[in-house]
Amino acid sequence: MSEAAILVVEDEEAIREMLVMALGQAGFTVLQAADAAQAQTVLEHNRTDLILLDWMLPGMSGVEWARRLRKNRRHAVVPIILVTARGEEEDKVRGLEVGADDYVAKPFSPRELVARIRAVLRRSGQHEQEHRIELEGIVLDTEEHHLSIDREPVTLSPTEFRLLAFFMTHPNKVYSRSQLLDEVWGRSTFIEERTVDVHIRRLRRILAEHQRDQLIQTVRGFGYRFSLQ
Ligand code: CA
Repeated sequence: MSEAAILVVEDEEAIREMLVMALGQAGFTVLQAADAAQAQTVLEHNRTDLILLDWMLPGMSGVEWARRLRKNRRHAVVPIILVTARGEEEDKVRGLEVGADDYVAKPFSPRELVARIRAVLRRSGQHEQEHRIELEGIVLDTEEHHLSIDREPVTLSPTEFRLLAFFMTHPNKVYSRSQLLDEVWGRSTFIEERTVDVHIRRLRRILAEHQRDQLIQTVRGFGYRFSLQ
């Protein structure tokens, strides 16, 4: 799974470079622009998951650009964190009014900034995550109850579907059979742990038809893990 792509819009080169470095070290893909016009071009040509936007820019201000983005249907949902040197309550209110998702006042520590970015990404991703999960070419839509692997539709029983959805949202962690029963079947049900193995076997068989069965690993003595490389 690729890390989120952050577009840094900042006219002061030293600050921009510091941000690019700090966000890169935090594992983000970093895009950059020195003003709103450049930022617009970068946005048109790159997948952008969040915009870190300086308030005071030469030419069009960050606030004005944010306002325009919010009116543009294509980019209206990209989260924006506004950055300002002033840090007054009134600015904060104005920034949030134009549709920014958060507001950071200079000076800030890179660590604080990264935490704020992750929080905004989590919030903005929630809606999408509830419906659509995509990993390793597997796309699962929990609202439409639809699964495809390498763009081919795949049919699963409701239980296997829920099991796969659980694994895809909790990768690389080992779950015991009883944990899986709690999480996938629900705590109130009384089902033998053996049942889990039956459904895992069926799910693996279907994934094997698409060369994805190695994703579900048996961890001897513990349970199962959905393992991403
Ligand atoms: Ca500036």
